Amino acid sequence: MNISPVLLKKLDVIQNMALRIISGAMCTTPINNMEAETCIQPLCIRRLFATEKFCLKVLAINNDIVSSRICLPEVLQSSLQTTPYVSAADILNSQYPLITRVMGFVTDLSGNMHKSQLWPVYECKYEALICKLNVDTSFILDEIDFKEYCSNKTNSLYLYTDGSKSLNSVKSGYYDPQNKTTKCFNLDQNCSIYTAEAYAIYQTLMYVQNLNNIEQYNEIIIVSDSKSVLLSLQNFSFNYKVNYIVYKIRNIVYNLNINVTFKWVPSHRGIKGNEVVDKAVNSNHDEDHSNICKIPFTDLYTNLKNDKRRLWNEYYKDVSKMKGRWYAEIQKELPIKPWYHNHKDANERKYITTINRLRFGHCQTPAHLHRMKITDNNKCTYCEADGADLTHIIMRCPKFNMQRLALVADIREALNTEEEENETTNTSASDALEETVESVDSNLMSMPDLPAQIMTADTCHPRNAVPRRVQDILANQKLYKCLFNFISTTVEQI
Ligand SMILES: [Zn+2]
Repeated sequence: MNISPVLLKKLDVIQNMALRIISGAMCTTPINNMEAETCIQPLCIRRLFATEKFCLKVLAINNDIVSSRICLPEVLQSSLQTTPYVSAADILNSQYPLITRVMGFVTDLSGNMHKSQLWPVYECKYEALICKLNVDTSFILDEIDFKEYCSNKTNSLYLYTDGSKSLNSVKSGYYDPQNKTTKCFNLDQNCSIYTAEAYAIYQTLMYVQNLNNIEQYNEIIIVSDSKSVLLSLQNFSFNYKVNYIVYKIRNIVYNLNINVTFKWVPSHRGIKGNEVVDKAVNSNHDEDHSNICKIPFTDLYTNLKNDKRRLWNEYYKDVSKMKGRWYAEIQKELPIKPWYHNHKDANERKYITTINRLRFGHCQTPAHLHRMKITDNNKCTYCEADGADLTHIIMRCPKFNMQRLALVADIREALNTEEEENETTNTSASDALEETVESVDSNLMSMPDLPAQIMTADTCHPRNAVPRRVQDILANQKLYKCLFNFISTTVEQI
């Protein structure tokens, strides 16, 4: 990226100001904390992602004019030898890779990518592009429902298709019950489930093209459980990002001399043909099409995106060793979504900003204001104790003893409700919240320095014990309402 660092800095300043407004953070809150809290990536990482996407696009269309200006052969060669091409340490030192380096990395990744001289949309016949495909996505509940649908269509050839993506394989397949044929294909690991489903339909149509007895049917019905592929066949858009297989499907259907209907059915509802093809796709008897079915360039975005998230997480952890350690103790990894996303009590701004400030640990406490040189001393306004920080206000200040009893009762109730929920719901559900609770619980066992009021916590039932550090309360999102109520009835704002 060869842009003036001065200009880039200006953009950073604007983004950081916006983050401060969004999160309600004080001016001292570290930037990496605000980025994590709002789940908004640092601009330098976003620029990197945008550059990678641009390079992929250039390669996908074989744009020699642009690519010859970007990649110098020698740079390309040297970049292939060193991976990863950008690390968290580079970001920390503001060492961003040049676009030639990004191109080298992306070229390495794009070996099996679909490349063409024109965007796929222009390679499709105009008539095929605009013809209306017969797509039926009406609701089907189960096998009985589907049989009823079939009863209106006599003398049709039913073909079932399916795609699957697991941790280490991507597969496509089709099943023709009338002619007793099943075929499965192994695809490149980087293909998306969408590509796998679309490729299954494409291969089915290729199979139909070569069938000898095709004239005897009134209609071909292709049964798929992928609503997204069927919808993109139905609602057509002229966009360069549309999967190239969709255009291949259009071309074949247009050239076939028989009616084709695409029918959606739900998966795993006992619809026989769908079950057979699903089973076949998950077995091992398949043809290797990993080099035949080229990866659409947009499928590679997922890889790049995950990669950038890993980089951001690494960077977040590195910066957290120096800045914002209070927050890093609560938020050890970058969250996938901000805590206030879908949080049942987070319906007013004050609630969100109050909890955010508690999580940041940068609040209007006497200790913090004194550190910022705004006040002369760090004494509590209520009891004159020295070093009046968050822990003092929430855990110790004698002025708030009554409110603290209410807080403890609230927390205990919230923890009990949580336990009941855990017992009734499936605990194996991978919920980040549950993991947080686990980590809080393990911390509880070794908590020194118990404030007098909280000593009364349940000791016979350690799972329900009230956390004894502010950060441990903050690590459990279900306790936010209790904390917010405490702040509202004591210092009012923080
Ligand atoms: Zn006090």
